[in-house]
Amino acid sequence: MYSPASSAMTVVLKRNHARPVLQRHPWVFSGAIERIEGQVADGDLVEVRDAGHNWLARGFLNRQSQIAVRLLTWRQDEAVDHAFWRERLERAAAARGLLAGSRATTAYRLVHAESDFLPGLIVDRYGEWLVVQFLTLGIERRKEEIVDLLAGTVDGVRGIYERSDVEVRSKEGLGQYTGRVWGEEPPELVEVLENGLRFLVDVRQGHKTGFYLDQRENRARLPAFCDGAEVLDVFAYTGGFGVYAAGGKAAQVTLVESSAPALELARRNLVVNGFERCGAEYEEGDAFSVLRGYRAQGRRFDAAVLDPPKFAHSQREVERAARAYKDVNLLALQLLRPGGVLFTSSCSEAVSADLFQKIVFGAAVDAGREAQIVGYLAQGADHPVALTFPEGAYLKGLLCRVV
Ligand code: SAH
Repeated sequence: MYSPASSAMTVVLKRNHARPVLQRHPWVFSGAIERIEGQVADGDLVEVRDAGHNWLARGFLNRQSQIAVRLLTWRQDEAVDHAFWRERLERAAAARGLLAGSRATTAYRLVHAESDFLPGLIVDRYGEWLVVQFLTLGIERRKEEIVDLLAGTVDGVRGIYERSDVEVRSKEGLGQYTGRVWGEEPPELVEVLENGLRFLVDVRQGHKTGFYLDQRENRARLPAFCDGAEVLDVFAYTGGFGVYAAGGKAAQVTLVESSAPALELARRNLVVNGFERCGAEYEEGDAFSVLRGYRAQGRRFDAAVLDPPKFAHSQREVERAARAYKDVNLLALQLLRPGGVLFTSSCSEAVSADLFQKIVFGAAVDAGREAQIVGYLAQGADHPVALTFPEGAYLKGLLCRVV
């Protein structure tokens, strides 16, 4: 915790490296650091000063990470104490105003890390359960305090479950952990509502914290294109888009997914909504080969959703990822009837919205299909992007209509 004595722990930046900090970017890369003054341990608070020793900001140090400091405040008189965490958490909760009051949606992201001015902290709400991820050493050290504050400040919470089983923690020198951290143990499947639709969520073993909450607003746009349609939901996971398609009175929904347990949960999600008779088809397998098979059979659809996993985990993987995005978009475009729509997205930070559009353009050219963009897709409002942190904009997509 911040105390006057800790002001001796100082990270001094190299000459001409203060600009991003002055612009309130929340990261200081190790390469920007000239020296570290004082006895400071990783995970401790440090004062960040420019080469002329002028105070700039305060944050958590971790020498094991390339992101050596995660900045928390740019106000010298703002101590990083209990009141600080409480205020930040309350601010994040207040920003969810409409969602928090919604009867139709009970699952949403409550804290979106850097973009909610809480570096390294993810908190997702699934009805009466919170699921947390601690992604950095600094925030990991405050786990108990954060959990207590969440339990004390968020209304109607029965239990808090941790899902810190994510690869990025290794970059911080942290291992993986999952388990109950406060209150009751959540049930095997938590039932939530999203825009009035029911979903069973496996918060212990599901992907991320159990559900792809970030696609909520994009999923909501799908039903408008589904009345009487044959809909293809590729990379279906637990049927997020597929359930919306069935809700939009699709004549047939085909879900393609490589994970058998995810596909089984997708089936249950269609059933709990009473959509089991919508002509659902479950195809377990690799999307690329399944779509090639459909092409060979001459199958056609009126709407297709592509929501692949992150193909590029870093800048180095962008080229290979671009080829994969192009291949799968090309296949989907070829499977659409004239007038059909493609919901296509990418959750790779390293693939910009601009690049993604170029990839889809290339796919359309090679598919021999003409298409128009009729909408832009992005992560929902509960996954904000701080203007000071453009890296936070990871989910992008296009809604295209094939001519
Ligand atoms: N659209 C979903 C989220 C999709 S996440 C929703 O709205 O909830 C991406 C999914 O793609 C994961 O479930 C993953 O298991 C699946 N997947 C990954 N690689 C795949 C492949 N090659 N073929 C088919 N599915 C794949």
